[in-house]
Amino acid sequence: MPLCHNCGTEADETAKFCKECGGLLKEKRVASVSMKAGEAGPKYTAMQLGESVMRIVGWVVIIGGCVVSVVMGAIVAISNDGSEADGVWIAIGGVIGSLVYGILSLAAADLYHKIRNL
Ligand SMILES: [Zn+2]
Repeated sequence: MPLCHNCGTEADETAKFCKECGGLLKEKRVASVSMKAGEAGPKYTAMQLGESVMRIVGWVVIIGGCVVSVVMGAIVAISNDGSEADGVWIAIGGVIGSLVYGILSLAAADLYHKIRNL
């Protein structure tokens, strides 16, 4: 027996409206359709994969970008061509750039997650 989504009264299997409150009784069918869409697979899996990739890219960029920037800055700072100030600026610029890009990627993954679960 399907239950009315509105008032909880049991309704007939074939009824379209609740006999108590007159609420529409199509919830069950809608739910089963959306479940089928989720199970149907390739699209859902691809979207999940896309979200995971964005998260991984975000963290790799944040961590990798910061490490690379600091190493590059250190190399410039100790090399004969650049000054220490140049090295520091390269490191700071690289770290800020990596953080901005990585956080944007993570934010995009979150947004994607929300859109997917609408
Ligand atoms: Zn009802």
